[in-house]
Amino acid sequence: MKVKMILPALAEAESPFWRPIKYSLFPPLGLATLAAYLSPDDEVEIQDQHVEELNLNDKPDLVVIQVYITNAYRAYKIADEYRAKGVYVILGGLHVTSLPEEAALHADSIFIGPGEETFPQFLKDFKIGKALKVYNSKIRTLDKVPPIRRDLIKRHLYLVPNSIVVTRGCPHHCDFCYKDAFFEGGKSFYTQKVDDALAEIERLPGKHLYFLDDHLLGNGKFARELFEGMKSMNRVFQSAATIDSILHGNLIEKAAEAGLRSLFVGFETFSPQNLKQSNKKQNLEKDYVKAVNRLHSLGIMINGSFVFGMDDDDKDVFKRTVDWGVKHSITTSTFHIQTPYPGTRLYKNMETEGRILTKNWDLYDTRHVVYKTKNLTASELKEGYDWAYKEFYSWENILKASLNHDSHKHKLKHLFYSGGWKKFEPLWNVLIKTGGLNSMLPLLESILSKVKVKSVKASDDLLSEYQLSNN
Ligand code: SF4
Repeated sequence: MKVKMILPALAEAESPFWRPIKYSLFPPLGLATLAAYLSPDDEVEIQDQHVEELNLNDKPDLVVIQVYITNAYRAYKIADEYRAKGVYVILGGLHVTSLPEEAALHADSIFIGPGEETFPQFLKDFKIGKALKVYNSKIRTLDKVPPIRRDLIKRHLYLVPNSIVVTRGCPHHCDFCYKDAFFEGGKSFYTQKVDDALAEIERLPGKHLYFLDDHLLGNGKFARELFEGMKSMNRVFQSAATIDSILHGNLIEKAAEAGLRSLFVGFETFSPQNLKQSNKKQNLEKDYVKAVNRLHSLGIMINGSFVFGMDDDDKDVFKRTVDWGVKHSITTSTFHIQTPYPGTRLYKNMETEGRILTKNWDLYDTRHVVYKTKNLTASELKEGYDWAYKEFYSWENILKASLNHDSHKHKLKHLFYSGGWKKFEPLWNVLIKTGGLNSMLPLLESILSKVKVKSVKASDDLLSEYQLSNN
């Protein structure tokens, strides 16, 4: 059977938000994971609209499309075109799980939740002509998951072809996060067996890895054994984890020993009220500065995530956040306008309160205001968000944040990483157009090389800083 798997683009190429490098980082790992359940006789192709033009002139036996909120309309259009030709189309992913009735209008079968149990079941049913309209994931395990079909990934088109996921979900329950909606009806946090995860790492060529897990340190025992196993593998890796896991015990030191060089951290807000309101309990009363300094002391670069527009935010939140990030040498920042994704508790609460302003999913990209704000007007929020990005990534602030580090190597790493990410767009575009993107991987690996840090700066008290800035 001929199978086509498609990841439609999350943003239009002609949109002002299209940044080729941002969308050329990671291959569609979810589709390659599902492809592993196909039979060796099946002819399968993965197409990723972020890095290649889609060819929709074919007529495969089965089309599989991964749907996120901002590619939903593109996904539905592609699905409709194939169905008009008589091709069997299935849709799955975060948005399908949140709004199954909407997605079902464009699919022969839809998938709710993760696909490790349901996709193989569907394949059996499909082969005998008895596929169901809806597949709902109930059993959650990564045992006996076959090796990902990495042979289907066009590695040369990505900066980070070695992305990997060894857990699913997260132990926390933030109201604005998709996690609880996606995993509803079963376990919402589970891991691979450590040996399977290590075997998957062994299969990846080169040195650099990017763990796309929501919270790699979420299961302490698993993470500890994983890092122990990775110690002798001579890898450098990037990942994500929460503030509390950085502060607790010595797991973060173990991660650094195994090669952790950069971490995505969800700071989100400095306001205890915002944290409580969004059920982000794991950040409450945690010393953000202490966590940051601990990462600096281990030579781990930080990508801080910050959300603007929560109900306790006022007009000063943008400056306060940028100043804090620069002062504490956060390497890169990802700012978001709060976005109530359908299916989340945040969305339900806002809908009950009549605060949802639009259901145009294209605008649910964390760059637009789609709900009625409280202490800020919508334009103050949008302008403040734009200002924060411009200000944080000004050369002046990049330099200031870089120079705060102790060692020269750390200063340079910060400068190259932060500057490279936001300031060399034309260079990235040339590399992408000429097919040379993957040749930058050795440079990325050297920027992620180990630094020795002489001293750790004294810890501030985040809460008193928050209170001071509010006086
Ligand atoms: S910690 Fe992160 S992944 Fe986990 S529920 Fe909160 S936002 Fe989602």
